[in-house]
Amino acid sequence: MSEGRLIIVSNRLPVVIDKKKDGSFSISAGKGGLVTAMAPVLKNRGGVWIGWPGIIEEDGITEQNLGELISKGVKDSGYELEPIILTKKERDNYYEGFSNEIIWPLFHDLISLCNFKDKYWETYLSVNKKISNKIMSKIIKDDFIWVHDYHLLNVASELRQKGYNNRIGFFLHIPFPSLDIFSKLPWRKKILESLLEYDLIGFQTPRDKRNFLQCVRRILRNKVQARGRENLVFIKSQSRDVLVGSFPISIDYEAFKDGADSANVAERAWFLHENLPNRKLILGIDRLDYTKGIPFKLKAFARALEKYPDMQKKVSLVQILVPSRVYIPKYKELKDNIERMVGEINGRFTELGWVPIYYIFRSLKREELLAYYRTSEIALVTPLKDGMNLVVKEFCAANIEETGIVILSEFAGASAQLGKECLLVNPFDVEKTADTIYEAYKMDYKIKRKKMKKMRNSIKKYDIFWWVDNFIKAGVYQSYEEYIPIKDFDFDY
Ligand code: UDP
Repeated sequence: MSEGRLIIVSNRLPVVIDKKKDGSFSISAGKGGLVTAMAPVLKNRGGVWIGWPGIIEEDGITEQNLGELISKGVKDSGYELEPIILTKKERDNYYEGFSNEIIWPLFHDLISLCNFKDKYWETYLSVNKKISNKIMSKIIKDDFIWVHDYHLLNVASELRQKGYNNRIGFFLHIPFPSLDIFSKLPWRKKILESLLEYDLIGFQTPRDKRNFLQCVRRILRNKVQARGRENLVFIKSQSRDVLVGSFPISIDYEAFKDGADSANVAERAWFLHENLPNRKLILGIDRLDYTKGIPFKLKAFARALEKYPDMQKKVSLVQILVPSRVYIPKYKELKDNIERMVGEINGRFTELGWVPIYYIFRSLKREELLAYYRTSEIALVTPLKDGMNLVVKEFCAANIEETGIVILSEFAGASAQLGKECLLVNPFDVEKTADTIYEAYKMDYKIKRKKMKKMRNSIKKYDIFWWVDNFIKAGVYQSYEEYIPIKDFDFDY
């Protein structure tokens, strides 16, 4: 099999755009685990990354100007970055509308937050078409196209209509819901049919994959031939054999481990210890989003302090809330609610020299983040539902002393991989979560160390480079024989 170029397509192009005071734009390269992992592959094979840089036509910029700015601002990336500019209407209906008011809440089981509108769907289809036109203008023979996430479910279908027959892979970063929930989607049939135009569909966990296969069986009445082994299965659709698998996304383990071990981080960690003597830190890091279950977490923490008063003055919760989409009323409401709860809990329990919750509403610099990871004894990761949750993996990688313990929601994708070594909770069950916080607080350090070692080994082995490599292998070779199965990843509770 010849190694063609790699074409990455994602809603957001990995660039950071700043609008300066004079109205002009400056553009620099984006960071993050996905970019770090993709860059060497894109450089080796050659390739293009296609996506929306986040600004709209009405900001006063054309696609051509944007292209020039990107090539000036992002030099030496070793691959091409190809921007697609959206109009305000496209952004409102495709991105804010269909993607974030329909697919995002529905796929996180929060149907009551969905806002089904035909105009969202129509614009979603037209933007997927626009993106596939751009892809068509960029590809050459033997390219492997890898499409990312829920904004782009329909891209393969559009490309097939244009006669494109080469391999296309798709990875869903968020969960795939169960049949009962997915069936509520007015466009359920069309979306499943569109997905089956991909050659490879990747999910985060075996459960997401099973949910998808069940939807295909029941909604499309497709007899899914479960040919394959472990976490890869073939579906025979009308036009092609589709490979369906689970590939848990991960982090750059070594970068987090080495970062946590650096002198700067050690100094910051020491500073935290010095200023909070005899105190165990419980760490919560969440983007501001209703799927993260932060109000439930705060309730559970308050209940733990009330039920187990020996924890008072001995633990503090550091809750970092990373700002996100605050211009949307639902998100602003959530933020206000969280801040009210933090105020009430602190008002109720604080004593001279002890504050139960340190609340931070901003994005942290990497070193600051690593210092919190390294200093905290307990990670409290309790999303109501999450595709994977990278915070938990980063916490473990940075826990170089190996004395930390993780309390993890059974509804986070990471529980499929790490559930056996974490203290699993149902985040809706406030009473049990409170008990589990106490259990973590009392846990013997030898048990914690054993668990942390196992988790770190697993995250080290299955890091982000493994993830990229395996997805591409499965996508390019279209053969499950080539794939290295991961037997220990289907942890059912
Ligand atoms: N993070 C960040 N800024 C911060 C704190 C955290 O960018 O101030 C990062 C964190 O390192 C992690 C990501 O945000 O990589 C959160 O990923 P996760 O999968 O946990 O949740 P998501 O926000 O993608 O739903």
